[in-house]
Amino acid sequence: MNELGYIESLKRRILIVDDEEINREILGHILEQNYEIAYADNGETAMSMLEDGGGRFSLILLDLLMPVMDGFTVLERIRGNERLTGIPVIVMTSEKPAEVRSIKLGADDFITKPYDMPEVILARCERIIQLYEDKSIIRSAEKDDLTGLYTREFFQEYVTRIDTYVGNRPMDAVVCNIEHFHMLNEMYGRKKGDRVLQATAAALFSLLGPEDIIGSRPDADYYYFYLPHRDSYEEIPELVQARLAERIGIPGIRIRMGIYQTVNKTRPAEHRFDHAKLACDRIRGDYTRQILVYSREMNERDLYEERLIHDIDAAIANRDLIVYYQPKYNIRGEEPQLCSAEALIRWRHPELGMISPGDFIPLFESNGLIQKLDHYVWEEAAAQIGRWKKELGRAVPVSVNMSRVDIYDPELEQRFLGLLQENDLTPADLMLEVTESAYADDAQGLIDVVNRLREQGFRIEMDDFGTGYSSLNMITTIPIDVLKMDMIFIRNMNRDEKSLRLVELVLEIAEFLKVPVVAEGVEDKAQVEQLRKMGCDIIQGYYFSKPVPPEEFEAFIRKG
Ligand code: C2E
Ligand code: CA
Ligand code: CA
Repeated sequence: MNELGYIESLKRRILIVDDEEINREILGHILEQNYEIAYADNGETAMSMLEDGGGRFSLILLDLLMPVMDGFTVLERIRGNERLTGIPVIVMTSEKPAEVRSIKLGADDFITKPYDMPEVILARCERIIQLYEDKSIIRSAEKDDLTGLYTREFFQEYVTRIDTYVGNRPMDAVVCNIEHFHMLNEMYGRKKGDRVLQATAAALFSLLGPEDIIGSRPDADYYYFYLPHRDSYEEIPELVQARLAERIGIPGIRIRMGIYQTVNKTRPAEHRFDHAKLACDRIRGDYTRQILVYSREMNERDLYEERLIHDIDAAIANRDLIVYYQPKYNIRGEEPQLCSAEALIRWRHPELGMISPGDFIPLFESNGLIQKLDHYVWEEAAAQIGRWKKELGRAVPVSVNMSRVDIYDPELEQRFLGLLQENDLTPADLMLEVTESAYADDAQGLIDVVNRLREQGFRIEMDDFGTGYSSLNMITTIPIDVLKMDMIFIRNMNRDEKSLRLVELVLEIAEFLKVPVVAEGVEDKAQVEQLRKMGCDIIQGYYFSKPVPPEEFEAFIRKG
Protein backbone atom coordinates (compact mmCIF):
# COMPACT_ATOMS: atom_id res chain seq x y z
CA MET A 1 0.00 0.00 0.00
CA ASN A 2 1.51 3.30 -0.95
CA GLU A 3 -1.01 5.80 0.24
CA LEU A 4 1.40 8.59 0.97
CA GLY A 5 2.65 8.46 -2.61
CA TYR A 6 -0.88 9.19 -3.65
CA ILE A 7 -1.16 12.18 -1.35
CA GLU A 8 2.21 13.51 -2.37
CA SER A 9 1.36 13.23 -6.02
CA LEU A 10 -1.62 15.53 -5.62
CA LYS A 11 -1.03 19.00 -6.99
CA ARG A 12 -1.09 21.74 -4.38
CA ARG A 13 -2.98 24.93 -5.18
CA ILE A 14 -1.47 28.37 -5.04
CA LEU A 15 -3.37 31.64 -5.14
CA ILE A 16 -1.54 34.53 -6.77
CA VAL A 17 -2.92 37.93 -5.80
CA ASP A 18 -1.58 40.88 -7.80
CA ASP A 19 -3.26 43.73 -9.61
CA GLU A 20 -0.69 43.79 -12.43
CA GLU A 21 -1.31 41.24 -15.10
CA ILE A 22 2.34 40.96 -16.07
CA ASN A 23 3.31 40.01 -12.52
CA ARG A 24 0.62 37.37 -12.36
CA GLU A 25 1.82 35.96 -15.64
CA ILE A 26 5.48 35.77 -14.65
CA LEU A 27 4.75 34.03 -11.36
CA GLY A 28 2.18 31.75 -12.92
CA HIS A 29 4.65 30.73 -15.55
CA ILE A 30 7.28 29.84 -12.94
CA LEU A 31 4.91 27.80 -10.80
CA GLU A 32 2.42 26.19 -13.16
CA GLN A 33 4.58 23.15 -13.83
CA ASN A 34 4.40 22.03 -10.21
CA TYR A 35 1.23 23.64 -8.92
CA GLU A 36 -2.33 24.38 -9.79
CA ILE A 37 -2.64 28.15 -9.95
CA ALA A 38 -5.56 30.47 -9.31
CA TYR A 39 -5.42 34.23 -9.79
CA ALA A 40 -7.00 37.27 -8.19
CA ASP A 41 -6.42 40.86 -9.22
CA ASN A 42 -7.30 42.52 -5.94
CA GLY A 43 -7.76 41.72 -2.28
CA GLU A 44 -11.51 41.52 -2.37
CA THR A 45 -11.60 38.93 -5.12
CA ALA A 46 -8.91 36.99 -3.29
CA MET A 47 -10.89 36.96 -0.06
CA SER A 48 -14.03 35.73 -1.72
CA MET A 49 -12.08 32.93 -3.45
CA LEU A 50 -10.56 31.94 -0.11
CA GLU A 51 -13.80 32.04 1.78
CA ASP A 52 -15.64 30.12 -0.90
CA GLY A 53 -14.19 26.98 0.67
CA GLY A 54 -14.34 24.77 -2.42
CA GLY A 55 -10.85 23.34 -2.16
CA ARG A 56 -8.27 24.94 -0.02
CA PHE A 57 -5.05 26.64 -1.04
CA SER A 58 -1.62 25.52 0.09
CA LEU A 59 -0.04 28.93 -0.37
CA ILE A 60 -0.91 32.53 -1.12
CA LEU A 61 1.42 34.88 -2.98
CA LEU A 62 0.32 38.35 -2.06
CA ASP A 63 1.06 41.73 -3.55
CA LEU A 64 0.75 44.57 -1.09
CA LEU A 65 -0.32 47.58 -3.08
CA MET A 66 -3.54 46.96 -4.92
CA PRO A 67 -6.78 48.83 -5.60
CA VAL A 68 -10.09 47.94 -3.89
CA MET A 69 -8.45 46.00 -1.03
CA ASP A 70 -4.71 46.06 -0.38
CA GLY A 71 -2.47 43.20 0.70
CA PHE A 72 -2.18 44.31 4.32
CA THR A 73 -5.92 44.09 4.78
CA VAL A 74 -5.99 40.66 3.13
CA LEU A 75 -3.23 39.45 5.43
CA GLU A 76 -5.00 40.77 8.47
CA ARG A 77 -8.24 39.06 7.48
CA ILE A 78 -6.57 35.74 6.75
CA ARG A 79 -4.85 35.67 10.10
CA GLY A 80 -8.07 36.61 11.82
CA ASN A 81 -10.01 33.83 10.15
CA GLU A 82 -9.91 30.48 11.90
CA ARG A 83 -10.31 28.50 8.72
CA LEU A 84 -7.80 30.44 6.65
CA THR A 85 -5.10 31.21 9.16
CA GLY A 86 -3.38 27.88 8.51
CA ILE A 87 -2.47 28.92 4.96
CA PRO A 88 1.05 30.31 4.52
CA VAL A 89 1.42 33.69 2.86
CA ILE A 90 4.43 34.97 0.92
CA VAL A 91 4.39 38.70 0.40
CA MET A 92 5.76 40.27 -2.76
CA THR A 93 7.33 43.60 -2.13
CA SER A 94 10.17 45.94 -2.95
CA GLU A 95 10.23 48.07 0.18
CA LYS A 96 11.79 47.32 3.55
CA PRO A 97 9.17 49.18 5.70
CA ALA A 98 6.42 47.17 4.09
CA GLU A 99 8.27 43.98 4.99
CA VAL A 100 8.31 44.89 8.65
CA ARG A 101 4.63 45.67 8.65
CA SER A 102 3.69 42.48 6.90
CA ILE A 103 5.80 40.36 9.25
CA LYS A 104 3.87 41.88 12.10
CA LEU A 105 0.66 40.95 10.33
CA GLY A 106 1.80 37.34 9.96
CA ALA A 107 3.51 36.97 6.57
CA ASP A 108 5.76 33.92 6.33
CA ASP A 109 8.30 34.96 3.74
CA PHE A 110 9.07 37.52 1.02
CA ILE A 111 9.73 37.55 -2.63
CA THR A 112 11.34 40.78 -3.70
CA LYS A 113 10.38 42.70 -6.76
CA PRO A 114 11.70 42.76 -9.36
CA TYR A 115 11.52 39.00 -9.21
CA ASP A 116 14.37 36.79 -8.15
CA MET A 117 15.55 33.94 -10.26
CA PRO A 118 12.70 31.50 -11.04
CA GLU A 119 14.46 28.63 -9.21
CA VAL A 120 14.64 30.74 -6.06
CA ILE A 121 10.95 31.55 -6.17
CA LEU A 122 10.03 27.93 -6.80
CA ALA A 123 12.25 26.75 -3.96
CA ARG A 124 10.80 29.25 -1.53
CA CYS A 125 7.27 28.21 -2.33
CA GLU A 126 8.12 24.55 -1.96
CA ARG A 127 9.90 25.11 1.33
CA ILE A 128 7.04 27.07 2.89
CA ILE A 129 4.42 24.55 1.81
CA GLN A 130 6.51 21.68 3.15
CA LEU A 131 7.08 23.49 6.42
CA TYR A 132 3.40 24.09 6.96
CA GLU A 133 2.41 20.56 6.11
CA ASP A 134 4.99 19.07 8.46
CA LYS A 135 4.00 21.40 11.22
CA SER A 136 0.40 20.32 11.05
CA ILE A 137 1.15 16.65 11.50
CA ILE A 138 1.28 15.37 15.00
CA ARG A 139 4.54 13.66 15.70
CA SER A 140 3.25 10.21 16.42
CA ALA A 141 3.18 6.85 14.72
CA GLU A 142 1.97 7.32 11.22
CA LYS A 143 0.84 3.79 10.55
CA ASP A 144 -0.90 1.06 12.43
CA ASP A 145 1.65 -1.77 12.78
CA LEU A 146 -0.83 -4.51 12.20
CA THR A 147 -2.58 -3.38 9.04
CA GLY A 148 -0.32 -0.71 7.59
CA LEU A 149 -3.24 1.71 7.53
CA TYR A 150 -2.88 5.20 8.96
CA THR A 151 -3.39 5.95 12.59
CA ARG A 152 -6.30 8.17 13.51
CA GLU A 153 -4.40 11.48 13.64
CA PHE A 154 -2.57 11.00 10.38
CA PHE A 155 -5.67 9.84 8.65
CA GLN A 156 -7.54 12.98 9.59
CA GLU A 157 -4.69 15.14 8.48
CA TYR A 158 -4.48 13.38 5.13
CA VAL A 159 -8.21 13.59 4.61
CA THR A 160 -7.91 17.34 5.07
CA ARG A 161 -5.06 17.43 2.61
CA ILE A 162 -6.94 15.55 -0.03
CA ASP A 163 -9.74 18.08 0.33
CA THR A 164 -7.19 20.83 0.00
CA TYR A 165 -5.71 19.56 -3.19
CA VAL A 166 -8.68 18.09 -4.94
CA GLY A 167 -11.43 20.13 -3.38
CA ASN A 168 -13.87 19.70 -6.22
CA ARG A 169 -13.72 15.93 -6.43
CA PRO A 170 -16.75 14.24 -4.85
CA MET A 171 -15.59 11.90 -2.09
CA ASP A 172 -17.16 9.13 0.01
CA ALA A 173 -16.46 8.23 3.62
CA VAL A 174 -16.74 4.53 4.37
CA VAL A 175 -16.71 2.82 7.75
CA CYS A 176 -16.45 -0.95 8.02
CA ASN A 177 -16.73 -3.25 10.96
CA ILE A 178 -16.31 -6.97 11.45
CA GLU A 179 -19.42 -8.44 12.99
CA HIS A 180 -18.76 -10.14 16.34
CA PHE A 181 -15.01 -9.76 16.07
CA HIS A 182 -14.50 -10.27 19.79
CA MET A 183 -16.07 -13.68 19.44
CA LEU A 184 -13.70 -14.66 16.67
CA ASN A 185 -10.89 -13.51 18.89
CA GLU A 186 -12.08 -15.67 21.73
CA MET A 187 -12.81 -18.70 19.62
CA TYR A 188 -9.67 -18.76 17.54
CA GLY A 189 -7.20 -16.84 19.67
CA ARG A 190 -5.54 -13.45 19.34
CA LYS A 191 -3.04 -14.49 16.72
CA LYS A 192 -5.70 -15.62 14.36
CA GLY A 193 -7.73 -12.54 15.29
CA ASP A 194 -4.84 -10.36 14.20
CA ARG A 195 -4.69 -12.18 10.91
CA VAL A 196 -8.38 -11.53 10.38
CA LEU A 197 -7.80 -7.82 11.02
CA GLN A 198 -4.90 -7.76 8.59
CA ALA A 199 -6.65 -9.68 5.87
CA THR A 200 -9.78 -7.54 6.20
CA ALA A 201 -7.74 -4.36 5.87
CA ALA A 202 -5.96 -5.68 2.81
CA ALA A 203 -9.14 -6.93 1.16
CA LEU A 204 -11.03 -3.70 1.78
CA PHE A 205 -8.14 -1.58 0.62
CA SER A 206 -7.68 -3.39 -2.65
CA LEU A 207 -11.38 -3.84 -3.41
CA LEU A 208 -12.38 -0.27 -2.61
CA GLY A 209 -9.20 1.13 -4.15
CA PRO A 210 -6.45 0.49 -4.50
CA GLU A 211 -6.02 3.80 -6.37
CA ASP A 212 -6.73 7.16 -4.78
CA ILE A 213 -7.85 5.79 -1.46
CA ILE A 214 -6.59 6.22 2.06
CA GLY A 215 -7.54 4.12 5.03
CA SER A 216 -7.25 3.95 8.77
CA ARG A 217 -7.99 1.59 11.62
CA PRO A 218 -8.91 4.02 14.37
CA ASP A 219 -9.71 1.27 16.80
CA ALA A 220 -10.07 -2.48 17.14
CA ASP A 221 -12.13 -3.81 14.28
CA TYR A 222 -13.23 -0.54 12.69
CA TYR A 223 -11.87 0.60 9.34
CA TYR A 224 -12.24 4.05 7.84
CA PHE A 225 -11.69 4.79 4.17
CA TYR A 226 -11.78 7.98 2.19
CA LEU A 227 -12.13 7.57 -1.54
CA PRO A 228 -13.53 9.14 -4.71
CA HIS A 229 -17.29 8.77 -4.92
CA ARG A 230 -18.77 5.61 -6.37
CA ASP A 231 -22.43 4.86 -6.92
CA SER A 232 -22.53 1.38 -5.54
CA TYR A 233 -20.76 -0.69 -2.95
CA GLU A 234 -23.18 -3.57 -3.26
CA GLU A 235 -20.67 -6.24 -4.20
CA ILE A 236 -17.95 -5.30 -1.71
CA PRO A 237 -19.00 -7.18 1.45
CA GLU A 238 -19.32 -10.50 -0.34
CA LEU A 239 -16.04 -10.08 -2.12
CA VAL A 240 -14.28 -9.23 1.12
CA GLN A 241 -15.87 -12.19 2.86
CA ALA A 242 -14.91 -14.54 0.05
CA ARG A 243 -11.30 -13.42 0.38
CA LEU A 244 -11.36 -13.87 4.11
CA ALA A 245 -12.75 -17.37 3.80
CA GLU A 246 -10.05 -18.21 1.30
CA ARG A 247 -7.09 -16.63 3.13
CA ILE A 248 -7.96 -17.24 6.74
CA GLY A 249 -10.02 -20.37 6.48
CA ILE A 250 -12.66 -19.22 8.93
CA PRO A 251 -16.07 -19.47 7.33
CA GLY A 252 -18.90 -17.09 8.00
CA ILE A 253 -17.00 -13.93 8.91
CA ARG A 254 -19.33 -11.04 8.17
CA ILE A 255 -18.55 -7.41 7.66
CA ARG A 256 -20.87 -4.45 7.53
CA MET A 257 -20.38 -1.05 5.97
CA GLY A 258 -21.74 2.41 6.59
CA ILE A 259 -21.30 4.85 3.75
CA TYR A 260 -21.58 8.58 3.67
CA GLN A 261 -21.65 9.50 -0.01
CA THR A 262 -20.35 12.75 -1.49
CA VAL A 263 -19.36 14.16 1.83
CA ASN A 264 -19.89 17.76 2.82
CA LYS A 265 -16.37 19.12 2.85
CA THR A 266 -17.11 22.28 4.74
CA ARG A 267 -17.41 20.22 7.93
CA PRO A 268 -14.39 18.79 9.76
CA ALA A 269 -13.02 15.41 8.76
CA GLU A 270 -14.24 13.57 11.90
CA HIS A 271 -17.76 14.67 11.16
CA ARG A 272 -18.10 12.73 7.92
CA PHE A 273 -16.80 9.56 9.51
CA ASP A 274 -19.21 9.99 12.39
CA HIS A 275 -21.97 9.90 9.80
CA ALA A 276 -20.61 6.77 8.14
CA LYS A 277 -20.09 5.08 11.48
CA LEU A 278 -23.60 5.90 12.55
CA ALA A 279 -24.88 4.10 9.45
CA CYS A 280 -22.51 1.21 10.06
CA ASP A 281 -23.62 0.76 13.66
CA ARG A 282 -27.25 1.03 12.80
CA ILE A 283 -27.13 -2.35 11.04
CA ARG A 284 -25.15 -4.11 13.74
CA GLY A 285 -26.49 -7.61 14.12
CA ASP A 286 -28.96 -7.14 11.27
CA TYR A 287 -28.60 -10.25 9.18
CA THR A 288 -30.63 -8.89 6.32
CA ARG A 289 -28.32 -5.99 5.48
CA GLN A 290 -24.61 -5.43 5.25
CA ILE A 291 -24.56 -1.94 3.81
CA LEU A 292 -26.33 1.17 4.94
CA VAL A 293 -25.98 4.49 3.22
CA TYR A 294 -26.14 7.43 5.58
CA SER A 295 -29.12 9.67 5.05
CA ARG A 296 -30.20 13.01 6.41
CA GLU A 297 -33.10 11.49 8.30
CA MET A 298 -30.65 9.40 10.27
CA ASN A 299 -28.94 12.58 11.22
CA GLU A 300 -32.17 14.19 12.21
CA ARG A 301 -32.87 11.27 14.51
CA ASP A 302 -29.33 11.71 15.77
CA LEU A 303 -29.76 15.38 16.46
CA TYR A 304 -33.05 14.68 18.16
CA GLU A 305 -31.37 12.12 20.41
CA GLU A 306 -28.52 14.49 21.17
CA ARG A 307 -31.08 17.03 22.16
CA LEU A 308 -32.82 14.62 24.51
CA ILE A 309 -29.52 13.66 26.11
CA HIS A 310 -28.67 17.29 26.52
CA ASP A 311 -32.03 18.17 28.04
CA ILE A 312 -32.46 15.35 30.52
CA ASP A 313 -30.85 17.09 33.47
CA ALA A 314 -32.97 20.18 33.00
CA ALA A 315 -36.03 17.96 32.66
CA ILE A 316 -35.32 16.39 36.02
CA ALA A 317 -34.56 19.73 37.66
CA ASN A 318 -37.68 21.38 36.21
CA ARG A 319 -39.87 18.39 36.89
CA ASP A 320 -40.83 18.05 33.24
CA LEU A 321 -40.73 14.31 33.79
CA ILE A 322 -44.02 13.11 35.13
CA VAL A 323 -44.86 9.70 36.45
CA TYR A 324 -48.17 8.33 35.21
CA TYR A 325 -50.00 5.38 36.71
CA GLN A 326 -51.79 2.61 34.92
CA PRO A 327 -54.16 0.45 36.96
CA LYS A 328 -54.04 -3.33 37.06
CA TYR A 329 -57.29 -5.13 37.76
CA ASN A 330 -57.88 -8.50 39.28
CA ILE A 331 -60.61 -10.23 37.26
CA ARG A 332 -61.04 -13.38 39.34
CA GLY A 333 -64.16 -12.23 41.21
CA GLU A 334 -67.56 -11.03 40.01
CA GLU A 335 -66.42 -7.44 39.57
CA PRO A 336 -62.93 -6.46 38.46
CA GLN A 337 -60.95 -5.18 41.44
CA LEU A 338 -58.23 -2.58 41.31
CA CYS A 339 -55.20 -4.37 42.74
CA SER A 340 -52.12 -2.44 41.81
CA ALA A 341 -50.60 -0.02 39.32
CA GLU A 342 -47.55 0.45 37.16
CA ALA A 343 -45.56 3.67 37.23
CA LEU A 344 -44.75 4.82 33.68
CA ILE A 345 -42.73 7.87 32.85
CA ARG A 346 -43.80 10.72 30.58
CA TRP A 347 -41.72 13.67 29.42
CA ARG A 348 -43.52 16.96 28.98
CA HIS A 349 -40.84 18.81 27.06
CA PRO A 350 -41.24 22.61 27.04
CA GLU A 351 -40.46 22.82 23.32
CA LEU A 352 -40.88 19.35 21.85
CA GLY A 353 -44.17 18.59 23.57
CA MET A 354 -45.11 15.23 25.05
CA ILE A 355 -42.44 12.63 24.39
CA SER A 356 -43.30 8.98 24.84
CA PRO A 357 -40.89 6.66 26.67
CA GLY A 358 -40.46 4.62 23.51
CA ASP A 359 -38.50 7.59 22.18
CA PHE A 360 -36.10 8.02 25.04
CA ILE A 361 -35.98 4.87 27.18
CA PRO A 362 -34.04 2.75 24.65
CA LEU A 363 -31.74 5.72 24.03
CA PHE A 364 -31.01 6.21 27.72
CA GLU A 365 -30.62 2.48 28.18
CA SER A 366 -27.88 2.48 25.59
CA ASN A 367 -25.89 5.28 27.19
CA GLY A 368 -26.43 4.61 30.89
CA LEU A 369 -28.52 7.72 31.57
CA ILE A 370 -31.43 5.45 32.31
CA GLN A 371 -30.21 4.96 35.85
CA LYS A 372 -30.69 8.62 36.67
CA LEU A 373 -34.13 8.49 35.25
CA ASP A 374 -35.09 5.32 37.06
CA HIS A 375 -34.02 6.79 40.38
CA TYR A 376 -36.17 9.79 39.68
CA VAL A 377 -39.19 7.61 38.92
CA TRP A 378 -38.69 5.44 42.00
CA GLU A 379 -38.44 8.50 44.20
CA GLU A 380 -41.49 10.11 42.66
CA ALA A 381 -43.54 6.93 42.88
CA ALA A 382 -42.52 6.20 46.45
CA ALA A 383 -43.37 9.75 47.52
CA GLN A 384 -46.70 9.51 45.72
CA ILE A 385 -47.66 6.24 47.38
CA GLY A 386 -46.73 7.80 50.72
CA ARG A 387 -49.00 10.79 50.06
CA TRP A 388 -51.89 8.61 49.00
CA LYS A 389 -51.57 6.52 52.12
CA LYS A 390 -51.58 9.62 54.25
CA GLU A 391 -54.26 11.59 52.46
CA LEU A 392 -56.64 8.83 51.34
CA GLY A 393 -55.94 6.42 54.14
CA ARG A 394 -55.01 3.76 51.60
CA ALA A 395 -53.13 3.14 48.39
CA VAL A 396 -52.41 0.31 45.98
CA PRO A 397 -49.06 -1.32 45.43
CA VAL A 398 -47.21 0.37 42.58
CA SER A 399 -44.64 -1.39 40.50
CA VAL A 400 -41.70 0.49 39.07
CA ASN A 401 -39.53 -0.59 36.17
CA MET A 402 -35.93 -1.57 36.70
CA SER A 403 -33.32 -1.45 33.97
CA ARG A 404 -30.37 -3.71 33.37
CA VAL A 405 -27.82 -1.29 34.78
CA ASP A 406 -29.75 -0.94 38.02
CA ILE A 407 -29.16 -4.59 38.70
CA TYR A 408 -25.43 -4.03 38.96
CA ASP A 409 -25.78 -1.08 41.29
CA PRO A 410 -24.23 -2.17 44.60
CA GLU A 411 -26.41 0.34 46.43
CA LEU A 412 -29.65 -0.93 44.93
CA GLU A 413 -31.00 -2.63 48.01
CA GLN A 414 -30.08 0.31 50.23
CA ARG A 415 -31.69 2.70 47.82
CA PHE A 416 -35.03 0.91 47.91
CA LEU A 417 -34.92 0.50 51.66
CA GLY A 418 -34.17 4.21 51.99
CA LEU A 419 -37.21 5.05 49.89
CA LEU A 420 -39.43 2.93 52.10
CA GLN A 421 -38.14 4.62 55.20
CA GLU A 422 -38.42 8.17 53.89
CA ASN A 423 -42.02 7.68 52.83
CA ASP A 424 -43.30 5.36 55.53
CA LEU A 425 -43.85 2.45 53.17
CA THR A 426 -43.54 -1.29 53.48
CA PRO A 427 -41.95 -3.50 50.83
CA ALA A 428 -45.45 -4.58 49.82
CA ASP A 429 -46.18 -1.03 48.60
CA LEU A 430 -43.44 -1.00 45.99
CA MET A 431 -43.09 -3.80 43.48
CA LEU A 432 -40.28 -4.17 41.00
CA GLU A 433 -40.52 -5.08 37.34
CA VAL A 434 -37.53 -6.63 35.63
CA THR A 435 -37.65 -7.45 31.95
CA GLU A 436 -37.25 -11.08 31.04
CA SER A 437 -34.34 -10.50 28.70
CA ALA A 438 -32.24 -9.17 31.59
CA TYR A 439 -32.31 -12.68 33.00
CA ALA A 440 -30.94 -14.06 29.79
CA ASP A 441 -27.98 -11.62 29.95
CA ASP A 442 -26.63 -12.66 33.29
CA ALA A 443 -28.94 -15.13 34.94
CA GLN A 444 -26.85 -15.84 38.02
CA GLY A 445 -26.01 -12.20 38.70
CA LEU A 446 -29.62 -11.22 38.46
CA ILE A 447 -30.84 -14.14 40.53
CA ASP A 448 -28.51 -13.09 43.35
CA VAL A 449 -29.80 -9.53 43.32
CA VAL A 450 -33.42 -10.60 43.09
CA ASN A 451 -32.95 -13.02 45.98
CA ARG A 452 -31.57 -10.28 48.19
CA LEU A 453 -34.47 -7.98 47.35
CA ARG A 454 -37.01 -10.71 48.00
CA GLU A 455 -35.43 -11.43 51.35
CA GLN A 456 -36.19 -7.82 52.21
CA GLY A 457 -39.81 -8.47 51.30
CA PHE A 458 -39.98 -6.93 47.84
CA ARG A 459 -42.00 -8.67 45.17
CA ILE A 460 -40.51 -9.05 41.71
CA GLU A 461 -42.48 -9.13 38.48
CA MET A 462 -40.96 -10.56 35.36
CA ASP A 463 -41.82 -8.07 32.63
CA ASP A 464 -42.32 -8.68 28.92
CA PHE A 465 -42.47 -12.38 29.51
CA GLY A 466 -42.31 -14.43 26.34
CA THR A 467 -40.00 -12.12 24.45
CA GLY A 468 -36.78 -12.78 26.31
CA TYR A 469 -35.94 -16.28 25.13
CA SER A 470 -35.33 -17.67 28.59
CA SER A 471 -35.29 -21.40 28.61
CA LEU A 472 -37.97 -23.26 30.47
CA ASN A 473 -35.28 -24.77 32.58
CA MET A 474 -34.07 -21.33 33.64
CA ILE A 475 -37.53 -20.01 34.41
CA THR A 476 -38.13 -22.74 36.93
CA THR A 477 -35.01 -21.75 38.84
CA ILE A 478 -35.60 -17.99 38.78
CA PRO A 479 -37.19 -16.53 41.87
CA ILE A 480 -40.16 -14.36 40.85
CA ASP A 481 -43.55 -13.40 42.20
CA VAL A 482 -45.52 -12.37 39.11
CA LEU A 483 -45.29 -13.04 35.39
CA LYS A 484 -46.23 -10.18 33.06
CA MET A 485 -47.13 -11.62 29.71
CA ASP A 486 -45.93 -9.43 26.87
CA MET A 487 -48.67 -7.61 25.02
CA ILE A 488 -47.68 -9.07 21.68
CA PHE A 489 -49.45 -12.31 22.61
CA ILE A 490 -52.60 -10.50 23.60
CA ARG A 491 -52.63 -8.42 20.44
CA ASN A 492 -52.77 -11.52 18.28
CA MET A 493 -54.63 -13.98 20.43
CA ASN A 494 -57.99 -13.44 18.81
CA ARG A 495 -56.45 -13.43 15.35
CA ASP A 496 -54.30 -16.50 15.14
CA GLU A 497 -54.33 -19.87 16.74
CA LYS A 498 -50.63 -19.88 17.49
CA SER A 499 -50.76 -16.76 19.68
CA LEU A 500 -53.70 -18.18 21.53
CA ARG A 501 -51.73 -21.35 22.17
CA LEU A 502 -48.83 -19.27 23.45
CA VAL A 503 -51.10 -17.42 25.87
CA GLU A 504 -52.23 -20.80 27.15
CA LEU A 505 -48.67 -21.92 27.44
CA VAL A 506 -47.65 -18.86 29.45
CA LEU A 507 -50.60 -19.43 31.76
CA GLU A 508 -49.56 -23.05 32.21
CA ILE A 509 -45.98 -22.07 33.01
CA ALA A 510 -47.28 -19.61 35.60
CA GLU A 511 -49.45 -22.27 37.13
CA PHE A 512 -46.49 -24.57 37.34
CA LEU A 513 -44.48 -21.80 39.02
CA LYS A 514 -47.46 -20.95 41.22
CA VAL A 515 -47.35 -17.26 40.37
CA PRO A 516 -50.12 -15.00 39.05
CA VAL A 517 -50.05 -13.65 35.50
CA VAL A 518 -50.60 -10.05 34.48
CA ALA A 519 -51.81 -9.73 30.90
CA GLU A 520 -50.61 -6.44 29.43
CA GLY A 521 -52.07 -4.48 26.54
CA VAL A 522 -55.63 -5.75 26.91
CA GLU A 523 -57.83 -3.45 24.89
CA ASP A 524 -61.25 -5.01 24.48
CA LYS A 525 -63.92 -7.03 26.17
CA ALA A 526 -63.43 -10.11 24.03
CA GLN A 527 -59.84 -10.33 25.23
CA VAL A 528 -60.88 -9.90 28.85
CA GLU A 529 -63.44 -12.68 28.59
CA GLN A 530 -61.11 -15.00 26.79
CA LEU A 531 -58.37 -14.42 29.38
CA ARG A 532 -60.75 -14.92 32.25
CA LYS A 533 -61.85 -18.23 30.78
CA MET A 534 -58.25 -19.32 30.41
CA GLY A 535 -57.50 -18.56 34.04
CA CYS A 536 -55.58 -15.30 33.82
CA ASP A 537 -55.68 -13.33 37.08
CA ILE A 538 -54.77 -9.75 36.42
CA ILE A 539 -55.26 -7.37 33.54
CA GLN A 540 -53.51 -4.15 32.63
CA GLY A 541 -54.55 -2.31 29.51
CA TYR A 542 -56.52 0.39 27.78
CA TYR A 543 -59.66 -1.65 28.35
CA PHE A 544 -59.57 -0.41 31.92
CA SER A 545 -57.47 2.69 31.51
CA LYS A 546 -54.48 4.27 29.86
CA PRO A 547 -51.68 5.40 32.13
CA VAL A 548 -52.95 8.61 33.79
CA PRO A 549 -51.41 11.41 35.86
CA PRO A 550 -51.51 10.98 39.66
CA GLU A 551 -54.47 13.39 40.15
CA GLU A 552 -56.59 11.22 37.89
CA PHE A 553 -55.37 7.99 39.37
CA GLU A 554 -56.62 9.13 42.73
CA ALA A 555 -60.17 8.56 41.50
CA PHE A 556 -59.37 4.90 40.84
CA ILE A 557 -58.12 4.49 44.40
CA ARG A 558 -61.18 6.18 45.88
CA LYS A 559 -63.50 3.94 43.84
CA GLY A 560 -61.47 0.78 44.36
P1 C2E B 1 -43.64 -1.73 29.63
O1 C2E B 1 -42.95 -1.72 30.95
O2 C2E B 1 -43.92 -3.04 29.01
O3 C2E B 1 -44.94 -0.86 29.85
C1 C2E B 1 -46.17 -1.11 29.25
C2 C2E B 1 -46.41 -0.23 28.07
O4 C2E B 1 -47.61 -0.64 27.43
C3 C2E B 1 -46.66 1.24 28.45
O5 C2E B 1 -46.14 2.02 27.38
C4 C2E B 1 -48.15 1.34 28.44
O6 C2E B 1 -48.62 2.65 28.21
C5 C2E B 1 -48.50 0.44 27.28
N1 C2E B 1 -49.86 -0.08 27.33
C6 C2E B 1 -50.57 -0.41 28.42
N2 C2E B 1 -51.77 -0.86 28.08
C7 C2E B 1 -51.85 -0.85 26.74
C8 C2E B 1 -52.85 -1.21 25.78
O7 C2E B 1 -53.93 -1.66 26.10
N3 C2E B 1 -52.54 -1.05 24.47
C9 C2E B 1 -51.37 -0.56 24.08
N4 C2E B 1 -51.13 -0.42 22.75
N5 C2E B 1 -50.37 -0.20 24.93
C10 C2E B 1 -50.62 -0.34 26.26
P2 C2E B 1 -45.23 3.26 27.67
O8 C2E B 1 -45.70 3.97 28.89
O9 C2E B 1 -45.14 3.99 26.39
O10 C2E B 1 -43.84 2.62 28.03
C11 C2E B 1 -43.14 1.89 27.09
C12 C2E B 1 -41.98 1.20 27.73
O11 C2E B 1 -41.05 2.17 28.20
C13 C2E B 1 -42.34 0.39 28.95
O12 C2E B 1 -42.80 -0.87 28.57
C14 C2E B 1 -41.01 0.31 29.66
O13 C2E B 1 -40.19 -0.66 29.08
C15 C2E B 1 -40.44 1.66 29.36
N6 C2E B 1 -40.69 2.56 30.49
C16 C2E B 1 -41.74 3.36 30.74
N7 C2E B 1 -41.54 4.03 31.91
C17 C2E B 1 -40.36 3.62 32.39
C18 C2E B 1 -39.61 3.93 33.57
O14 C2E B 1 -40.02 4.71 34.43
N8 C2E B 1 -38.38 3.33 33.72
C19 C2E B 1 -37.91 2.43 32.80
N9 C2E B 1 -36.74 1.86 33.01
N10 C2E B 1 -38.60 2.12 31.71
C20 C2E B 1 -39.82 2.69 31.50
CA1 CA C 1 -43.08 -2.62 32.85
CA1 CA D 1 -44.16 -5.04 29.72
